[in-house]
Amino acid sequence: MKDEGMIVVLSGFSGAGKGTIMKHLLQEHPGEFHLSISATTRKKRQGEEDGREYFFKTREEFDDMIRQHQLLEYATFNGNSYGTPRDYVEKLVEEGKDVLLEIEIQGALQVKKLYPSALLLFVMTPTADDLKDRLVGRGTETQEVIAQRLAISAKESSYMPGYDYLVVNDEIDRSVALVYSIIRCEHYRTARNIETIKQMQKELRKFERR
Ligand code: 5GP
Repeated sequence: MKDEGMIVVLSGFSGAGKGTIMKHLLQEHPGEFHLSISATTRKKRQGEEDGREYFFKTREEFDDMIRQHQLLEYATFNGNSYGTPRDYVEKLVEEGKDVLLEIEIQGALQVKKLYPSALLLFVMTPTADDLKDRLVGRGTETQEVIAQRLAISAKESSYMPGYDYLVVNDEIDRSVALVYSIIRCEHYRTARNIETIKQMQKELRKFERR
């Protein structure tokens, strides 16, 4: 029973672990989900590869993608632009597949507006100090960037109620299992299974008594 593919947005505070959850989810359930790879104007970090973590674009290339309506959503985060390529996501959802988007909050809200049936998950840490500790522990950003990201999180917290589910990421295995079960459950929502309902109603017609 699966009427439609689903856009699953994993979003939340920078450093809360959404990237790690996403990676584990894909590894533990091979073939079950498709990951959308975003375009960005951000500089490549050490160890990253074009077409794997992101499609790395120049400002001009990114603006062209916007002009040509190739992005389903886009946003600026910490001075860089990020956007979701539209064709890949729409094609897979039409084919009944689940597509995962790991994006920041402005983008997530744009997706929900465009696709009200998208599932929005908000990943957070148990406490605000845990968030800081994780950003520091990651060791990929300067102190200044970490301070900027925490200030962004403070602002972003006002959008938390617009999400469908909160994922408090205290322990990675538990969080991955939680996200997986939320997605599974969502597929059984009546509103997502109108065709199945109609089919059952049609079949039951033969038992109707007048
Ligand atoms: P980073 O530079 O650390 O890879 O990502 C910075 C932020 O941009 C993260 O919160 C990440 O989820 C978000 N992001 C990545 N891709 C996209 C995208 O396509 N659209 C939006 N709106 N945000 C994105």
